[in-house]
Amino acid sequence: MKDIKITKIEDWGFGFKNPILVAGPCSAESAEQIDTISKQLKSSNIDMFRAGIWKPRTRPGSFEGVGEEGLEWMKIAKENLGKPVTTEVANAKHVEQALKAGIDILWIGARTTVNPFSVQEICDALEGVDIPVMVKNPINPDLQLWIGAIERLNNVGITKIAAIHRGFSNKYVTQFRNAPEWSMPLKLKELIPDISIISDPSHICGNREMLADISQKALNFGLDGIMVETHNDPDNAWSDAKQQITPETYNAMINNLVIRNSIDNAPELKTNLEELREKVDVMDRKLIDVLSERFEYIKSIGKYKRANNLAVFQKDRWKDVTESRVKMGTDRDLSEEFMRSLLSAIHEESIKQQEEMLEKDND
Ligand code: PEP
Ligand code: MN
Repeated sequence: MKDIKITKIEDWGFGFKNPILVAGPCSAESAEQIDTISKQLKSSNIDMFRAGIWKPRTRPGSFEGVGEEGLEWMKIAKENLGKPVTTEVANAKHVEQALKAGIDILWIGARTTVNPFSVQEICDALEGVDIPVMVKNPINPDLQLWIGAIERLNNVGITKIAAIHRGFSNKYVTQFRNAPEWSMPLKLKELIPDISIISDPSHICGNREMLADISQKALNFGLDGIMVETHNDPDNAWSDAKQQITPETYNAMINNLVIRNSIDNAPELKTNLEELREKVDVMDRKLIDVLSERFEYIKSIGKYKRANNLAVFQKDRWKDVTESRVKMGTDRDLSEEFMRSLLSAIHEESIKQQEEMLEKDND
């Protein structure tokens, strides 16, 4: 993979803290609504105010955003909070209008990240502009599309890039609107270590009940912030009513979150962790050496059975082996369930190797 250059979020010049808190309504509805919500959010000490001006709706006929007029209202939020504001852009025209209106940070939505033509159009409109862009994960769990959008931004000189984890659509009915698939943001972080990933529990959950739990999970997984849809009158919101919460509920939720120490801020923790990980690496190597040695013996037994025309599987022997090993494990605090599944995997492989040996013999 070509090197991706990221200006870390703490160097974007907004004084963001960890975790980064983004809040605001799904959609901007009126100047009054933006004024009310941003004032109500004042005590939450958020880092960034969000509101959708152009709304990508799955079916036509629902509210598709207030459009350009709403960009002016974002200035009210900026003024009330003294914090940067962000909105979604999906084409070159949105970019042009958002830049003209002084929007501080842009985001690319999930339905746009899936389409390289649209992402490229946005990037072309951003060429030579120094503005931070947050890239939501594509609707489908395709890491390459997510990375591709980040690379396209990089190609036009944008380095202030963050990612937003909003979950992934799938055909199964699950408790989530969009399944979190935590391995996806973690993999992205592994491939692009400097990128900050902000989780969007609102679009993951699609309801209010699970928001706190998923927000906490995001922090536990080491993600760098959360974006939560907040509305002064959630039940009557013009979009995503079911998942929005009032600033008051939001405040309570944020105050209850357990903020874990970021490992990057604590070099001594990092060193200890690295030492422990090295030990685990050594143990794994030993484990594999021992296993391979064990299979060598198994092969010798196989040869012996073949020479003496004995059956591969000998029930009584295996029963004794299992029971004695399970006891050895449980005596050392390993669970019986784990011991049985470990032994069964080893046994299956042993039989397979011995059978292969017999087959060779029959050839
Ligand atoms: C949104 O943030 O309101 C939105 C439309 O999100 P997504 O692109 O994740 O569906
Ligand atoms: Mn929404």
